[in-house]
Amino acid sequence: METTVITNDDLAYAADAIRRGGLVAVPTDTVYGLAANGLNAEAVAKIYEVKGRPAIKPLILLVSDIEAAEVFCAEIPDAARKLAAAFWPGPLTIVLPHSDVVPDIVTAGGKTVGIRCPNHPKTLELLRLTGLPLAAPSANISDMPSPKSADAVLEYFDGVIDCVIDGGVTSLGFESTIVDLTSEPYKILRQGALPEEDIKRVLKA
Ligand code: AMP
Ligand code: MG
Repeated sequence: METTVITNDDLAYAADAIRRGGLVAVPTDTVYGLAANGLNAEAVAKIYEVKGRPAIKPLILLVSDIEAAEVFCAEIPDAARKLAAAFWPGPLTIVLPHSDVVPDIVTAGGKTVGIRCPNHPKTLELLRLTGLPLAAPSANISDMPSPKSADAVLEYFDGVIDCVIDGGVTSLGFESTIVDLTSEPYKILRQGALPEEDIKRVLKA
């Protein structure tokens, strides 16, 4: 297939590709993500296929805000609301128990789901246009460096994915911090762009 590169602000084509079950690489504040409709198991399967990602590794869902996340989580504790209010859109992924709506392939059969609202105007616009959660791991072949530009995405996936939204070079350039709120106390599963001290400060307040 031909991979369309979208350099302007018209994201209708990308939204349509997502609705049709295609793959769209999206800019975020951290690194580029490889996005599919997070409610379409077949579309999500393509992410694993093209990345060569092991089926045991769950994907995160990008959402437009914490209200949008309510459908995908069995419950949203106060701690999650506080963290989302403080750091979304931004480089924080929150792990919560998932609801029945989330396909098993997204969570790799587990009981939890990782959710994040990314800070990039184009991907926020794509979330708004589709009204869907986007399953989106980093847009690299498994075990290769995460891409920080549309050109870097094309080096991996030109001719393989439907489109790339060019949103410039990502501002942070490394991964989100992942906090698991399914246990007390919370656990940091991945140290990323948001320092743990910031999380501690908000949860104490
Ligand atoms: P990536 O988006 O490829 O940079 O990576 C997302 C990271 O989030 C991976 O390391 C996943 O294993 C991790 N992850 C996604 N969902 C969950 C979850 N439900 N519980 C724990 N870790 C998760
Ligand atoms: Mg990755």
